[in-house]
Order: sequence, then structure tokens, then C-alpha cells
Amino acid sequence: MSDAHQPTDNGVQGDDDFEPIQVFPEAEEMDLRPGADNCYKCSTCDTNCPVAEVDDEFPGPKFQGPEQWRLKRQDDHDIDDSVMKCSNCMRCDSACPSEVPLSQMHNTARAEYVEENMSKFSREYWRNRMLANYRRLAPLGSMFPRTTNFVMGLSATQWLGEKVLGITGEREFPEFATETFREWWTARGGAKVENDEKRIAYFHGCYANYNTPEVAKALVRVYEHFGYEIMVPDQHCSGTPMFANGMLEDARRSAETNVRELAAALEDGADIIASCSSCSMSIRQEYPELFDFEGTEEVAANTWDAVEYLRVNEDLEGELDGTSVGDEFDDFAYHAPCHARNQGLDGQTVEVLDAIDGVDAHDVGDSCSGISGTYGWKEENYETSMKIGAEMFEHMEDAEATTGLTECPTCSMQMEHGTGYEITHTLEVLEAALVGSAAETDAQEWS
Ligand code: SF4
Ligand code: SF4
Repeated sequence: MSDAHQPTDNGVQGDDDFEPIQVFPEAEEMDLRPGADNCYKCSTCDTNCPVAEVDDEFPGPKFQGPEQWRLKRQDDHDIDDSVMKCSNCMRCDSACPSEVPLSQMHNTARAEYVEENMSKFSREYWRNRMLANYRRLAPLGSMFPRTTNFVMGLSATQWLGEKVLGITGEREFPEFATETFREWWTARGGAKVENDEKRIAYFHGCYANYNTPEVAKALVRVYEHFGYEIMVPDQHCSGTPMFANGMLEDARRSAETNVRELAAALEDGADIIASCSSCSMSIRQEYPELFDFEGTEEVAANTWDAVEYLRVNEDLEGELDGTSVGDEFDDFAYHAPCHARNQGLDGQTVEVLDAIDGVDAHDVGDSCSGISGTYGWKEENYETSMKIGAEMFEHMEDAEATTGLTECPTCSMQMEHGTGYEITHTLEVLEAALVGSAAETDAQEWS
């Protein structure tokens, strides 16, 4: 954080002097003053910020949000560079008792900082653009997945990634699947169930498509088990990594496509389901906070987390009662992602899995995993990311379980990196209990 931009409340103008801040001139209604003025400086957000907890240099969400906006109102102050140290975990958002729209403020501040203060020729800018636009790079990587995995797995590649791009060499790059989810879906002939009354549009996101299609297949099989017709609309990245890196115009383009496609699915009678907690949060919260495309509010209001939707619309626990998962899974060390907490979903997985015979999911506490999407992949954040994750690693090791469980792809990477555990997704456990093991169902589908 630069000395010139220390947090201060001095010189805040009265309401009469207020001039709306035009971060996005085209979005005239985006007036953040009411949120800033709702802050009564209780510092609850700061005490809930995992980055501030381990990094004394980070001024915390109260400064990133309301105080920074007050400074801007005062004299069009530059956005402080510390905004790039916020991991976008959004814990401050749900902690604030006064409903200050902290993450909306952070997202707009980051975008302004990148636009006006970050050199477009800097390594940081190009590294962040690459990380934020995984959807553009992943199709290239997955054209020849075995070759890509081999090259990305070389220690020389990791070394180069750190030296040239500033992507930490401490982490192993995730592997590409040999068949993407969408390739599998097409080869399968699409939906196996037709049902006008029960229809969902699946927002699988980038990672389940290119890296973990087993999660997406599990969703398809579990929902078809309950008699749902599944649509898989065209889609772009949810925008989460773009928001986190201040690439708001990229996020806007992705969101526009997603809202258009998902709104069309709503018209076809579908509800929207996501298997990644960050994707569902982005569509539900960040889209309506930041964009106003036609249908944005309707899409947000009809988007659900995959397990949440089944709990609300089906007797999920009743269906699971008396089932088992055989030898495929044992007990789990469960981490609720911050973005699931933000949606009020942190308790559901443990409650749901409790219905399966012989399965225990041990909640490893409410700490942040520390990776927060692209944040922990940056060389300069790696150490902080691991310090934040230390509590979760310790609780995972204390839990009587050897498999990790979560619904966020990057939390999953961090859990594996910090403990060496194999990590799975809740939908895969539901698939094993309700339909059979993935290997069995694969064999049945192709026989
Ligand atoms: S928790 Fe909310 S009200 Fe309290 S300091 Fe933070 S922004 Fe202000
Ligand atoms: S989003 Fe997370 S890292 Fe960023 S200020 Fe809020 S709590 Fe801290």
C-alpha cells in the first residue's frame, strides 16, 4: 500500500456536496454512495478478512470499500494499489452487519486501478490477463491434452512460468481431461431424459468442462436419476477470475453471453444449476451488482447451486437414506468454500451426506482455503495463500478422513497441495450413492 493513500476519514464531504463517481460512465445508475455511507466503521469486515489476518501490509476491506470511496468523493483520489492484494474471497461481504456492498466496491475499484494505474506493458498485467482468461487458453491446452499435461508437468515449465510470467512454480498445473465434458455430452447424444415439468440448464463453467468432467457427468447422472431433462447451453467463463483481476470489460463480455443464453433457457422452462460455488455466486450476486443486461435479474433469481436445488425441490436426504457408496469413498474432510458460505450453503453438504450409510463428512471449520481462484497462483501471493490455508490443512489432518471434499475447483487444488489428500466433489459422492460408481455408470452408458 502506498503511503500517500493511507486510510483516513478526514475531509469527507457532506451529502449536499456529493458528486456521483463514474467508474463506468455507461452505467449511470451505479452510484456507490449509499453503500459507503452505511458503513459505521465497526471493523467486522476487517476481522473477517483472511488476507488482513496474515498480511500486516494489507489495509483490509473497510479501507478497500467505504473509506476508499470516501477518498474518491473528496478529490478523485487514485485507487490504492493494495486493492490488487484482495483475494475476492467475499467473506467481508457476508460479515458486514450494515449491508455495505463491499465486493461490488472492490470489483469496481480493481477495475479502475487496472484501467488507470496498471501499465498495459507490465508483466503483472499480462500474467493477470492470462489467469483471468482461462477459458481462452484451456481449449488450446485440451486439443492435445496428453502432450499439454506432459509439458506443463515439467519442472522446467514451472520454473519458466515463475520467472517469465510470475505464476508460482510451487504449484503443479491442473491436468486437462482427455475428453471434455461437452465432447462427452455430444458423443452421448445429449439428454437421456425428456421432461417438460422438470428441466434444468447446466452451467458447468470452465474447470468442469476442461479439467474435471467427472464432476459434470456426476451432475448429469444425479439429475437424470431425479427425472430432470438437462440442457447444456452455450456459455462463457462465469467471470469470477476476471472480477478478481480487475478485468471488468472481459467479465462484461462473458456475462452478456451467459445472461443471453441462460435467459433463453429460462424461457424454455429451465432453472439454472451450477456445480461450482464461485460460478453460482458470480451469476447470482456479481452480475446483478455490476451489469444490467436484459434478463440479468431473472437469471440471477433462478440460478441455484446443484445440491441446494435438489434439497429444495426433491427429498434428497430421503432418497439417500439407506444408500451406501461401497468401497469407493470413505469419510471426508469437508471444506466449505468462501463463495458457498456467501450463499448461505456452508452447512448443506455435511447434512446431506449424513444420510448415506457409512459416510461421515467432517467439517474442517470456517477458515478460507487461501487460494481464492487465481490469487494463490501469483508468485507474490503464494506465501500468503499458504499461511491462510494453514488452519484448513491442520483441521483436515486432524479429521478422521483421508479424502478431501469441496465444491470449488481452486479450493480443491489448495487442499490437495497442502495435504496431499485426494479431493472429490459432493456431486461425485451423490452419484456413487444414487446411481453407482462413475466407472460402472460409464460402462452402462456405452454398452
Ligand atoms: S463491516 Fe460493514 S459497517 Fe463494519 S466497518 Fe466493514 S463495511 Fe463498515
Ligand atoms: S474479499 Fe476477502 S480478501 Fe478481499 S477484502 Fe474482503 S475479506 Fe479481505
